[in-house]
Amino acid sequence: MSESKPRVTRADIEKGLRSLGFNAPVVVHASLSAFGFVEGGAEAIADALLAVFPTVMVPTFTHGNVMPPPEDLNIPNNGVIPSWYDWLKTQPLRPFTADTPSHQNISVVSEVIRKRPGALRSSHPSHSFAVIGPDAAKVLATQTLDDPLAPIVTLLQMGGWVLMLGARITSCTELHASEHLAGRNYFLRLAVDESGQNYFARSPGCSTAYVNFEPIFAPILREVHIGNARIHAYPGPEFLDLSVNAIKANPEITRCRPDCIACRDSIAGGPPPLN
Ligand SMILES: [Zn+2]
Repeated sequence: MSESKPRVTRADIEKGLRSLGFNAPVVVHASLSAFGFVEGGAEAIADALLAVFPTVMVPTFTHGNVMPPPEDLNIPNNGVIPSWYDWLKTQPLRPFTADTPSHQNISVVSEVIRKRPGALRSSHPSHSFAVIGPDAAKVLATQTLDDPLAPIVTLLQMGGWVLMLGARITSCTELHASEHLAGRNYFLRLAVDESGQNYFARSPGCSTAYVNFEPIFAPILREVHIGNARIHAYPGPEFLDLSVNAIKANPEITRCRPDCIACRDSIAGGPPPLN
């Protein structure tokens, strides 16, 4: 007998989300397949999110639009993995546009929200966000090329929540913002605009070790299961306080392996400002 997947409806998802017990802006990382079978697919999940929460922000990252800067610039602590760099040098650098689809490792739920009427999207070449709701413009306006995750910090500091829909904590981009608040610089990457001019933009690093934060967040965790999906949520101000303090107290908490170049360089503080 084959294993049957639970069947989940939009109403089930709405009910589960309401049971978390908060009504606030959310930044969402979702995995459609984690639920089992969702009637209506990613559209149903987007409908449920927009029905329950006043403002919904999703990552719409586009990793094919940046590459490491030339080696002769000798930028220290820049998280460049040699084999990845050699591969990237064979790829054409493409300009980011408002219609650039999210990278294939970004949830289809993010893509659905990005394409909804009323969604606003920021224009960072690798780390754009899409937001629907009254806070969209205010939150997105804080993003700069140097501070790609400022919209996350803004949303969480105004009382927003981190909401993981079947996604694991290793997808929690918010922890990169915590690393930045703890004093680390994002890596420097090169992008290209539509006229062919190169420009610098910063991007975060490795998130493999973020499982180490699960016990730290235990006191603030809200959790529910919908179908097979584990929904976990964390209130923004407390999330930032706990994670920033944990990184300052033990910088090694973000290291995934002794030989991870990205983790090594982040813990060393990342690349300094360009002159
Ligand atoms: Zn790592």
